[in-house]
Amino acid sequence: MSEKSCSSVGIIGGGIQGVCIGLQLLKKNIPATIFDRNDPGMMASYGNAGHFSPYAVLQLNRPDILYDIPKMLLSSFGPLALKWNYIPKMLPWIFRYLKNCNKKSMLHTARSMNQILSLSMDAYEEIFQEIDTTNLVDQKGIIYIWTNKNLKSRELEIKVRNELGVKQKILNVKEILDLEPNLKPVFSGGCFYDYAYHARDPHGIIKKIFELFLKRGGKFIKQDVISVHQSQKDQTLIKTDNGEYKFEKSVIACGAYSKKLTDQLGEKIPLDTERGYHVHFKGMENLLRRPVIFLDRGFGMTPMNQGLRAVGTVELGGLKNPLSKKRIQYIVNCAKELLPQLGDHEDEWIGFRPTLPDFLPVIGPSKNNQNIIYAFGHQHLGWTLGAITGKIVSGVLANEKTNLDLSPYNSARFN
Ligand SMILES: Cc1cc2nc3c(=O)[nH]c(=O)nc-3n(C[C@H](O)[C@H](O)[C@H](O)COP(=O)(O)OP(=O)(O)OC[C@H]3O[C@@H](n4cnc5c(N)ncnc54)[C@H](O)[C@@H]3O)c2cc1C
Repeated sequence: MSEKSCSSVGIIGGGIQGVCIGLQLLKKNIPATIFDRNDPGMMASYGNAGHFSPYAVLQLNRPDILYDIPKMLLSSFGPLALKWNYIPKMLPWIFRYLKNCNKKSMLHTARSMNQILSLSMDAYEEIFQEIDTTNLVDQKGIIYIWTNKNLKSRELEIKVRNELGVKQKILNVKEILDLEPNLKPVFSGGCFYDYAYHARDPHGIIKKIFELFLKRGGKFIKQDVISVHQSQKDQTLIKTDNGEYKFEKSVIACGAYSKKLTDQLGEKIPLDTERGYHVHFKGMENLLRRPVIFLDRGFGMTPMNQGLRAVGTVELGGLKNPLSKKRIQYIVNCAKELLPQLGDHEDEWIGFRPTLPDFLPVIGPSKNNQNIIYAFGHQHLGWTLGAITGKIVSGVLANEKTNLDLSPYNSARFN
């Protein structure tokens, strides 16, 4: 522990990052209050694919993607889609993103992600020992499949993961079908992470973590946060639609909505969102034993308690555009391509991945307000990174020393 810890923390956002930060603070005897305008875990953390993916070091800022983007955009039924009315607003993000699609940035992101991903499951194990995960978490591995259309990209992924020491097992079609006999073999190969876990109900898991947080004395205030700022040297002020609350330190963990608050603090952090979708095929979860992701399609299926969840695609279109029926239909088509026996779907859902143009999260103190700590921007991996983010951020709040290099995640990289 440090010489001086912290007397109180207000956490804005009760997604997976917020609840994990709250729980870790209580373990350090630091009183914590979570603010959320919804019940905890109702946004991105609710409907994700539930993969715990410590192996997913390679992100979407890669040189090979530059060749694929035009092809993907020309097809209205591809894995990437745009809401054209939002694109003018998103141009600065898109330019920065394209600038990061080079080998150097790709490897910097991969190494920096690997640093935290490699700790992510130990951090969850600690939490899983304290909550009842019966029927909520399975460890049956996760399979990625592909066709022979984009083999150069697959080779790149395998190479970078090998270089970073990620364990992976390359599979042929027969080996994949031995594991998942119901799949229609429209693919040519794949990769198996046999040690990977998946959530059977991400929301159910958050609820358990949140219950533990409350049981240990954590507080929850269901209000919309309008602003946060550092009011004095050792004081931050959170203003909501219903009151004002003082804490020694505050955390912004609002996922894709964090930008509204960071803009007010005078920092131009280029956070935007990659919209993703899911549907459920009820009663069909037994068709797969474990999650299967079809890389060429940018989509996957996870057996969950609510049914077989078909999930994925990236749509650039901001936070306000309505759900796109074409995206839903795309996911349904992809699911039926692999499992033609699927019938009607239910529960059409859209979620907002919080993404920075270099595909690294922002974790660490605000540039101008050292008592305000950021914890957002975990893009496709925020579910996997919830528990480790909780540990890192609570350590920062408690002024503890760390052996981790936190500089890649600092917001200063955008200034
Ligand atoms: C389709 C899809 C599939 C995914 N699959 C995976 C996966 O398999 N594995 C993986 O690791 N990750 C996955 N992700 C990513 C992951 O879900 C997100 O990165 C993660 O949930 C983000 O968590 P968060 O706590 O930062 O944000 P959120 O879960 O969005 O939580 C933010 C919270 O802040 C609250 N909030 C926002 N603004 C305010 C305000 N002003 N006042 C009060 N409250 C506020 C919101 O109500 C919300 O509860 C997926 C995402 C999507 C969309």
